[in-house]
Amino acid sequence: MFDLMKELAGAARVGIGGHVRPDGDCVGSVLGLYNYLQKNMPADCVIDAYMERPSDVFDTVSGIDKIHETADENCVPYDVFFCLDCDESRLGHAAPLFAGAKKKINVDHHISNAGSGDINYIDATAGSASELVYDLLDLDKVDEACARALYIGIIHDTGVLQYSNTSPKTLRAVADLIGFGFDFSTLIEETFYQKTYAQTRVCGKAMFESELLLDGRVAYTVVTQKTMQEYGLTGKDMDGIVNQIRNIKGVECAVFLYELSDKEFKVSMRSTDAVNVSDIAVFFGGGGHKKAAGATLEGSAEEIIARVTQRIAMQLTK
Ligand code: 5GP
Ligand code: MN
Repeated sequence: MFDLMKELAGAARVGIGGHVRPDGDCVGSVLGLYNYLQKNMPADCVIDAYMERPSDVFDTVSGIDKIHETADENCVPYDVFFCLDCDESRLGHAAPLFAGAKKKINVDHHISNAGSGDINYIDATAGSASELVYDLLDLDKVDEACARALYIGIIHDTGVLQYSNTSPKTLRAVADLIGFGFDFSTLIEETFYQKTYAQTRVCGKAMFESELLLDGRVAYTVVTQKTMQEYGLTGKDMDGIVNQIRNIKGVECAVFLYELSDKEFKVSMRSTDAVNVSDIAVFFGGGGHKKAAGATLEGSAEEIIARVTQRIAMQLTK
């Protein structure tokens, strides 16, 4: 770990970026740090946060309206730039700003991240990047806006404190954060569990059309652009589908594909201890964690399923 305020001493321009296709942990870590720095850095310090537009469920997170969805590559370089919940390859429009910063700091919990910063705080045993951001903060200087954002990040990446990436340290962080008094129960309901009617129907269709492979140890399902368009949905609305098929009894690895464009699919994988999906994702140019990982692959859905299943089979037969 490093001393956050020491590394920021004298900085006049601070940037923060998260990964493309931002999820709850990306939103939570970026806005948790953003709110903390807004409160605790000198008033004349510029603090800019960069991220693609996340799902509408995060609209109530403080600072979401301040996010820069585009970047000016020719802007004055940042004194310090934080890359959160990813390595620099997934920073999207913020990548040139990170590359051009005087000091680069990378905070992440992805096992596939070798460290992109001058300073790296990378801990693959942590449940979320938000938990690692929390480690860096002085609790006395945290406010409700910051606490609520970090809480959302932790909740989302630990499956509401259920996944094996939840540790005593995670729970101690969460205990501190809910001490700020926000309505955490409604927050979980509205950002994690609640789905629109259209999302529910597409999820239902994806469940119905799911197929089992390798004697029921692998399940997969596919959502095409045609289906998303028919229901007025985008990739942001597909969260949760892969977890549903992972719940099928006997399934050790769940694979979910949604179509990004013709012959291009986003692949999400979830597994039990039997399969390390991070290794498979990295093999295909993506990354993630042992039990949750993803990548973008080109080809037809059938081809991609065959290629991914072959890698899973190699692990299952070891
Ligand atoms: P999801 O399946 O929910 O999109 O992602 C699962 C995990 O894998 C997340 O931690 C996510 O950040 C990571 N991940 C998903 N897609 C990619 C990718 O294309 N590259 C890398 N490096 N990580 C990914
Ligand atoms: Mn994360």
